[in-house]
Amino acid sequence: TLVGVLVAGVGCISIIALILTVVQHEEVNLPSSKYGIVFDAGSSHTTLFLYQWPREKENSTGVVSQVLFCDVDGPGISGYAQDPPGAGQSLKKCLDVAKGAVPPGQWGETPVALGATAGMRLLNLQNSIQANQVMEEVKKTMQGYPFDFRGAKILSGMEEGAYGWITINYLLDGFIKYSFQGKWLHPVGAKTQGALDLGGASTQITFQPKESIQDPQTAAHFRLYGVDYDVYTHSYLCYGKDQVMRQLQAELHKAGGPNYSSIRGRIIHPCYHDGFELKMTLGDLYSSPCINRTAEIDLSASVTFSGNSNPDQCLALIKKIFNFTQCNFYPHCSFNGIYQPPVDGIFFAFSAYFYTFNILGLTPQAKVEQANNTIDSFCRKNWKMVKTEHPTEKDKHLQDYCGSAVYITTLLLDGYKFKSWDNIYFQKKAADADIGWTLGYMLNLTNLISSEAPVVVKGVQS
Ligand code: AMP
Repeated sequence: TLVGVLVAGVGCISIIALILTVVQHEEVNLPSSKYGIVFDAGSSHTTLFLYQWPREKENSTGVVSQVLFCDVDGPGISGYAQDPPGAGQSLKKCLDVAKGAVPPGQWGETPVALGATAGMRLLNLQNSIQANQVMEEVKKTMQGYPFDFRGAKILSGMEEGAYGWITINYLLDGFIKYSFQGKWLHPVGAKTQGALDLGGASTQITFQPKESIQDPQTAAHFRLYGVDYDVYTHSYLCYGKDQVMRQLQAELHKAGGPNYSSIRGRIIHPCYHDGFELKMTLGDLYSSPCINRTAEIDLSASVTFSGNSNPDQCLALIKKIFNFTQCNFYPHCSFNGIYQPPVDGIFFAFSAYFYTFNILGLTPQAKVEQANNTIDSFCRKNWKMVKTEHPTEKDKHLQDYCGSAVYITTLLLDGYKFKSWDNIYFQKKAADADIGWTLGYMLNLTNLISSEAPVVVKGVQS
């Protein structure tokens, strides 16, 4: 036994020596890059983003880059309401991809977080128990990985809008720039860029207005690099692309006939292309909390929507889901009585704004008239023609581009009251990173944006 203890003792000492060597080695020679991982758990799908930045320049601006993104297979996590463990399982493939991309020695210091957006906000309204179960399962999976788990939560619409705005302005050096003379400069007039985000279940508008914000519920305040920003932001739940498409179907079903003839469960849909048909149960149609059920409905009955390629009727239908006249408490509103100061400055429109306008050749910029003509002729095409012209597009996206494009023009012109689109850039990426809320979220989580101005390094200053 004594020999055994001695051997064990020697073993212990050599392990301690080994640890000390590793620690000493790390202190002397820390890896030059740091990493961070954020999941965007959207209503229709989940994407993992891996970011990287140089360790020695942590507090500088514009140093974070996107290393990779990974699309999670299957639906968004809210689609696992009946199978919460499936939501956790679905994340594994992308977490493994991240594990392969971050050096093993740094897994433990790499933060990983998940933000769920409007799909989960809706599930939470509908069935908070299921929503909690889904969030618990995704947490469990994430905690089973060797990364530094920093939470999985449902973001508010305001957080989603605000972090999108931070992302854009960080990527485009909107906050601060390091000049050739070696000084930190705030861009002239400190003008920032606005953010327009169109998700599947909600849409956000965020910008720095000229007037002071009159509804405190729409005001976000930041102090970034020594400058105060008051930013207007509003998120419209149920006005994301997919929920709008659902609202249109319900409008047509409720209208039930005179304008959009409904013969034996077949309803003409003006935003769908001639020759396209979509069959669904009324249970599916009315399952969303964005749709109110007026009359008693047989949820097991089904309905078929048949396209008739009619953009004028499509526009009239889309206008029905907006209330443009109600504005009781404020000098100006967007729609549905929501306060909005006049839009001002340059905007970046991403997510489904980009997907929709890109397929129509309207990115990165389009004049309103050009866009209207393009959308009109696209909507008039029959389904066969549309399929032939876009052979690689999935039907689930292709079927909605006409309706989504007409919705976008209505939202921008009549909703947000943009007079022209000269200042709107329809873009997916900036500085090689995807535009969305995830980067802003990670910058905040890891304190990568200081609230005070960076110190000018002596000797570098001119
Ligand atoms: P979310 O899942 O909330 O981020 O929603 C994004 C919206 O964009 C949904 O309406 C999706 O259907 C749509 N979308 C996502 N990826 C694509 C794509 N590759 N092409 C076209 N539309 C897309």
